[in-house]
Amino acid sequence: MTNPIEILQHLIRFDTTNPPGNEAECIAYLDRLLKEAGIETTLVAREPHRPNLIARLKGTGNTPPLLMYGHVDVVTTANQDWDQPPFSGVEVDGYIWGRGALDMKGGVAMLISAFLRASTEKLPLAGDIILTLVSDEEGRSDYGSKYLVENHPHYFDGVRFALGEFGGFSLYLGGRKFYPIMVGERQSCNLKAILRGPAGHGAFPLRGGAMGKLGRFLVALDEKRFPPHLTPVVRRMLETMSEQIEDTELKTRLIQLLDPAMVDMALEQLGDQRRFFEPQLRNTVSPTIVNGGNKLNVIPPEVEVTLDGRILPTFRPDDLLAEMRQVVGEDVEIIVTRYEPGPAGIHMGLYDVLARTLREADPDGYPVPLLISGATDARYFSRLGIQTYGFLPMNLPPDFSFMPLIHAANERVPAEAIQFGTDTIYKALQRFGEAAL
Ligand SMILES: [Zn+2]
Repeated sequence: MTNPIEILQHLIRFDTTNPPGNEAECIAYLDRLLKEAGIETTLVAREPHRPNLIARLKGTGNTPPLLMYGHVDVVTTANQDWDQPPFSGVEVDGYIWGRGALDMKGGVAMLISAFLRASTEKLPLAGDIILTLVSDEEGRSDYGSKYLVENHPHYFDGVRFALGEFGGFSLYLGGRKFYPIMVGERQSCNLKAILRGPAGHGAFPLRGGAMGKLGRFLVALDEKRFPPHLTPVVRRMLETMSEQIEDTELKTRLIQLLDPAMVDMALEQLGDQRRFFEPQLRNTVSPTIVNGGNKLNVIPPEVEVTLDGRILPTFRPDDLLAEMRQVVGEDVEIIVTRYEPGPAGIHMGLYDVLARTLREADPDGYPVPLLISGATDARYFSRLGIQTYGFLPMNLPPDFSFMPLIHAANERVPAEAIQFGTDTIYKALQRFGEAAL
């Protein structure tokens, strides 16, 4: 069976909520699909109940192998109010409903379906295609891509480019349709800030203590912004968008985003669209956990704040710390607790092939490169020198806004978009040999 819509419906019916994941049955189903088509598979697992699947189609070897990867685990549906059961995979008015429809069982269905079709139709391939379906992306990838990259890198020998999440969907802006293709992501940098001050009995108030400093620290982060940085990918995206957009007001704003002196003013004017553009233009930190004090009548000597930091490609934690100091001052200790470096640079070698393929599939849409604000499994594969392109094409209708549905209630996807994505990925497999290495 190669029908991607039926595959997606099957995939949704496996409850792979992570934690705990329990991806084994879902992976076994995908394994069966491949074996029934006569394709050899390998299961690689750190723990048997959290397996990863690898399959390979032979190419001529003229070009390095192309990796296609996706994750089968999903996030929780707890405390969400759904109009259709989240693990039903039911089709209603042309939409497939369920957890993972968008993130990313829809993508997995497209990838495996295009892969199966390439095998059945004996599509001539410029290089091998390696399909890798992993567990645990919504966790820390300790059982999935991180495990594979650290313990079994040889499966990916020679790979330069990969297709994965997150990109290829249509995005409507200022009267035009765009297809952002993810080429990079910000790096994750977790931080801890410690504020200290005099301690004592709660009955004898102290000024200038850790709590007062905490207040000033949080207010500073809330009110001030770190400086903008224009990276080449974001420049290219903004230039393409501003050339195409018809809405003159929005066009002006996007042109202003290219000028560091105008960025803050332009973001202010962008309204809801600010959320899309701002993380691509600067390093950020979000305070998420506060710990301090444990007794009503004791003024604590210190308070700790945990912060979720995100750094633009090619920047480093030291850059983030320097920018943070400018905002919060010196009277706080800041420690980097976990940093996951991204790739040293962004390689655009396969981008033009993908953009051309998308443009042919939908001549009304304009492909643009995208830097995403969060992180995907691309960061682990990048350690092997692999450049990932977020390329799960979906031609979505203008009235369907999918971003609010990701990780939320009523996640669903147009069945037509899944077919479109499968066909477009298949076409990309026909021509990935044209990439610039
Ligand atoms: Zn995902």
